[in-house]
Amino acid sequence: MKIESKLPDVGTTIFTVMSSLSNDHNALNLSQGFPDFDVHPDLLSLVNKYMLAGNNQYAPMQGVPALREKIADKVFEQYNARYDPASEITVTSGATEALFAAISAVIQQGDEVIVLEPAFDSYVPAIVLNGGIPVYVQYRFPEYRIDWDDVKTALSPKTKLIILNSPHNPTGSVFSSEDIKALKGLLEHTDALILSDEVYEHIIFDGLRHESMSRYPELANRSLVISSFGKTYHTTGWKIGYCLAPAPLSKEFQKIHQFLTFSTNTPIQYAYADFMQHKDVYLKLSAFYQQKRDTFLALIKQSRFKTMPCSGTYFQMLDYSEISSQSDIKFSRQLTIEHGVASIPPSVFYHRRDDHKVLRFCFAKKDETLKKAAEKLCKI
Ligand code: PMP
Ligand code: GLN
Repeated sequence: MKIESKLPDVGTTIFTVMSSLSNDHNALNLSQGFPDFDVHPDLLSLVNKYMLAGNNQYAPMQGVPALREKIADKVFEQYNARYDPASEITVTSGATEALFAAISAVIQQGDEVIVLEPAFDSYVPAIVLNGGIPVYVQYRFPEYRIDWDDVKTALSPKTKLIILNSPHNPTGSVFSSEDIKALKGLLEHTDALILSDEVYEHIIFDGLRHESMSRYPELANRSLVISSFGKTYHTTGWKIGYCLAPAPLSKEFQKIHQFLTFSTNTPIQYAYADFMQHKDVYLKLSAFYQQKRDTFLALIKQSRFKTMPCSGTYFQMLDYSEISSQSDIKFSRQLTIEHGVASIPPSVFYHRRDDHKVLRFCFAKKDETLKKAAEKLCKI
């Protein structure tokens, strides 16, 4: 059978490729981003409770009302922004679905979308499938900062959307108030919308503040803000996220969401709604992961890898240029197969496969896992 591919240049996502390679070779999997520690027992009990109580049928398309209300309260408390749970919040099957629905809702044939590279791998296929044209701007290496003049150059009358992601996967870079100022200035006289991927909103270090688009009314007005419970509650496999957007944008978003998945897992939505009252869980998450980052950095201090700055997310970029001149794809394979530590080669997040001789390591792991990985990395 001859099938004309709609995504001829797309292969299997690197997260699947590297996790499989890691499993095949019994390596320590620091590639795909997920914690190897347990979910809070109270959250597990709540899911169990709501399942046993019979909450096992379709949730409302927009999400369980109790959860949308809790999300609205949390966003108000964190960012001083009011979203109406009835018309401006949609619960989704993970941030991945929300990103796809958001892009599908706003992109028409020939619309340009500014993508900041390295970019999470689901953005561009969604743009292309909807007839959009990605216009690329690179984070400046090695600091991984955005030069907003580069974005200015990329803007055109056809720019429909700019996709932002802070804290940023894979670099760990975060937007400052200066970035926000520059962004506001650039967009002021345009109609461009913003898709803000904020799944790591609660994982930000060294006293920095998360610059959510929702904090700034003039940006929030034109933004679809996406988050994910998976990152905050160590539950990446439960695949629940949400989208915040002004009512007219949410209306278009929901037109897509209702036919992508209709609604998402009911008992888990109820469980999160209850569990969100334990504010300390998300308020203490940054400190928890900062400790993990610092543990990992201390453990690999004697290695030949050079560390890069990491201000948020649970990813640490390491420069291996003193160890090997191989491409990051080859080196990450070798590291997995011969040395037993799996990582992610960031060149796959660039349309031109920019290779800076760095690898991304996930430190959302038990200290014992980090210790074992560091022992291996220090021997190289
Ligand atoms: N965006 C970014 C930047 C991510 O790192 C992830 C992680 N998986 C996602 C979106 C997708 O989140 P989810 O697992 O909730 O679909
Ligand atoms: N966000 C995770 C990462 O960057 C994995 C996402 C996925 O597997 N789709 O590693």
